[in-house]
Amino acid sequence: MERTYIMIKPDAIKRGLMGEIITRIEHHGYKITNAKMFNMTEEVLNEHYSHIMSRSFYPEIVAYMQGGPVLGMVVEGKRVIEGMRILMGATKYLEAAPGTIRGDYSFMDGENLIHGSDSAENAEIEIKRFFGKNA
Ligand code: UDP
Ligand code: MG
Repeated sequence: MERTYIMIKPDAIKRGLMGEIITRIEHHGYKITNAKMFNMTEEVLNEHYSHIMSRSFYPEIVAYMQGGPVLGMVVEGKRVIEGMRILMGATKYLEAAPGTIRGDYSFMDGENLIHGSDSAENAEIEIKRFFGKNA
């Protein structure tokens, strides 16, 4: 079964949307097989977001992602990597379709509630980064 790394970001937790997001994931038929709440260090953020580190908005993303705990999860299901990206919606809230998590609940670009791996290769790297090399 395919698996992906999903992370509920600090804004979603502060707004009390954790349960709503988990419900959407479960109701879509995906299984949450591991989960933990933790605070992101700058070191792990720089690894996780190395592809946006050179962007002008990166310092704001670091502050946002360190603004409270995150919930990291391993989610399994048929074509779950692509399926979760569809459930999440587009990165920018104005481009996220209604009915998606971001489209329904996000109202600013950076703070978009949820992370999901974008490829099979990155899913495995991210699961190991957050749940250990034997995960
Ligand atoms: N981000 C942003 N503006 C952008 C691109 C990215 O604020 O133009 C932030 C946003 O929080 C996003 C994260 O950086 O979720 C990682 O960017 P990525 O391109 O990987 O988007 P995602 O895979 O999360 O949709
Ligand atoms: Mg991404």
